[in-house]
Amino acid sequence: MLIIDKLFGKPLARPVKLWISQDEFDTLVLDHSKRVETHRENESALQQFLNLASLPFIESWVAGMPDLHPGKSVCIGTVFATRGQLVPNTTGVDIGCGMAAIKTDYVYDGNVALLKEFVAGMKANVPLGFNHREVPLEDGIYEEADECPISQRELEKAKHALGTLGGGNHFLSFDTDEEGFLYVVVHTGSRNLGLKICSEYDEIAKLQNKKWCSVGEEGWELAYLPIDSKEGGAYFKELKFAQKYAKQNRHHILEFASRMFEANGIHETERIECIHNYISVENIMGKNLFVTRKGAVNAQEGKLVIIGGNQMTGSVIAVGKGNVQAFNSCSHGAGRAMSRTEAKNTLSVEEMKEQMKGIVTSEEISEKMLDEAPNAYKNLQSVLDNENDLVTVRNRLKTVAVIKDIEEAKPWQKKKPKVEE
Ligand SMILES: [Zn+2]
Repeated sequence: MLIIDKLFGKPLARPVKLWISQDEFDTLVLDHSKRVETHRENESALQQFLNLASLPFIESWVAGMPDLHPGKSVCIGTVFATRGQLVPNTTGVDIGCGMAAIKTDYVYDGNVALLKEFVAGMKANVPLGFNHREVPLEDGIYEEADECPISQRELEKAKHALGTLGGGNHFLSFDTDEEGFLYVVVHTGSRNLGLKICSEYDEIAKLQNKKWCSVGEEGWELAYLPIDSKEGGAYFKELKFAQKYAKQNRHHILEFASRMFEANGIHETERIECIHNYISVENIMGKNLFVTRKGAVNAQEGKLVIIGGNQMTGSVIAVGKGNVQAFNSCSHGAGRAMSRTEAKNTLSVEEMKEQMKGIVTSEEISEKMLDEAPNAYKNLQSVLDNENDLVTVRNRLKTVAVIKDIEEAKPWQKKKPKVEE
């Protein structure tokens, strides 16, 4: 772990602790100077840490996980704590995004026909991309939207989106562990609901900050709301609802898988749930603090976590070590090595086909998938090597089948750029 207390010749208001190697840090410095030349410094990972660490209400330090990469206003892979100030843009648009997995008692013996049946079964039950359900699933959570005006307004759409996967980096996969036991893994969030809550409360926070005298510069996009203000309290309620909704979204998808397994005489033996884009109140160093994890996971001592890899390597199940220096957190995945555009421009279909050999895919590999190609992501092992003081690996899963949406966003759906978590 590197402790940064000075950046670009200026002392930092609070230290930034980064779980990356010196070489990776040097690469970020180079990347920063390139972005400064083109006046895009607020898109540099180091500038985003510097901006966040400058806010007066940040508690003690800011932590950066080994899969960190620049986001909309803070890096994906950022963890920080406050005594009650919430920054809507730092949690971002996919509030409650996370991963969940079921382990089964079935040892996969290479029965590809059965695997293809499972892929078809999940595709038939879980709408992908922008598709919604015609008939909403029943869920008691809908009643909890009563005190949340945005969620209430969006509830009809949200009902039809519950139990759907979405697109981008969201996926469903079948994996095996070292003993061959079959797992199903899902990565998805709060669908459109989180986006509405984040965008509307970021606007409210900007207006409020102007009135109160802003704490950050305009380009930083870090407007905040105190929890004890009317607006801050209302945002936290909406956020908590979206977090629960995202959890239920994953739950329903896994329930389809569980029922499909049961119909084939396969039983669930373990369920692991893990959220990586959220705010929670936690006791850290004896204080109750609001901890924001943007693309990071709670890895308190003994807690099971899922760290997503790429389509080829599969995910890792690990056990938290409870390292307070990282606010008891760890990485949420391998992290992107290149942007979607860069991946589409530089990677090849042939190379991706070669890498995905032997893995059942829901769609034939084509150019449309290159932004999610294995090489668009960092090497998961190097991420894990940088965080051996945060987690211990329990299982390395190997992907045997993957379901992802490949539909490109329509122009009107592209209006608000979505940052990957
Ligand atoms: Zn996510």
